[in-house]
Amino acid sequence: MKHKVNSHVFQEALLAHYARHGRDLPWRQTNDPYAIWLSEIMLQQTTVATVKPYFLRFMAAFPTVFALAKAPLHDVLHLWQGLGYYSRARNLHACAQKVVADYNGQFPQTAAALRTLPGVGPYTAAAVASIAFGEAATVVDGNVLRVISRLYRVQTELPQAKRELEQLAEKLTSPTHPGDYAGAIMDLGATICRPRNPQCGICPVAAFCAAVKAGDAASYPRKARKKASLEKHGVAYVIYDAEGRIYLQRRPEKGLLGGLWEAPHTGWENTPLPSRIRSLIAQEKGTKCPPIRHVFTHFALTLDVQRIQLESQHPNWIGPTELAATPLSTLMRKVLQSAETV
Ligand code: SF4
Repeated sequence: MKHKVNSHVFQEALLAHYARHGRDLPWRQTNDPYAIWLSEIMLQQTTVATVKPYFLRFMAAFPTVFALAKAPLHDVLHLWQGLGYYSRARNLHACAQKVVADYNGQFPQTAAALRTLPGVGPYTAAAVASIAFGEAATVVDGNVLRVISRLYRVQTELPQAKRELEQLAEKLTSPTHPGDYAGAIMDLGATICRPRNPQCGICPVAAFCAAVKAGDAASYPRKARKKASLEKHGVAYVIYDAEGRIYLQRRPEKGLLGGLWEAPHTGWENTPLPSRIRSLIAQEKGTKCPPIRHVFTHFALTLDVQRIQLESQHPNWIGPTELAATPLSTLMRKVLQSAETV
């Protein structure tokens, strides 16, 4: 027989717990759709602890959607650096400009309309619509998928199970308090119904949970076996001129780490180095620096780092002061740090 949950009683139990124990987060102290949207974009694939200081810095630098839309992309990327998944920052900027240009600076109020904005997928649209505008939209992120899969002991493996889990999540969503419900179910997944060691003993919805009754909560959600992740290797060249300036080049706007600056490298794409760089490198013997390793979503990269010291001067390269204001990825920061160790 299929497991049944009384959605009304379930919502009451969850919301009562949230009222007492909900996490106190900076973006929960406001109804401003701009702040809520900004926090939700930052929270995609990133933990609350990491996002908090970035959110506060962004709100201080760009307190309104108008301020963000007006800012140069370079400044936005610079403030974003270290947060990863840089396409989010580019979409953030594009989205702010669209909201200003097409909606007079007012975010659209439904999940369906929000989904048409750059960088706003179904999850973010539902989160903003429910939290900022009170629409009964269902938020479904990794945390929610896990909670639902355990409540109902869903045997279908992810990713195939996604639609089934979404439909079950929709049935449980509160029609009267959708914003609080969204916060409550995400908090439950993040703090109690955790991937390993779910805290079923203190769970406010344990009475509704099929997995805790069966004693196999931690084995949900069921997942197809993962393929081994790909390993890639390359060499990065940190080239200094006689005055300590560094040669950096800007990555194309689109694609991985798009728009950020980098030292030339043979990286993950196996593209040959530009001939100008090859001739600079050929002038001097490089010094080997500690290799660095960085894990992306779909592969892990090890870069050998070569430090090249030229005797010539290149006034148009990046000096230490400009470097502080140059948007760099975490990968490139590691490369530059490695070059500084020798
Ligand atoms: Fe998750 Fe355990 Fe609560 Fe079930 S009882 S929802 S498995 S924490």
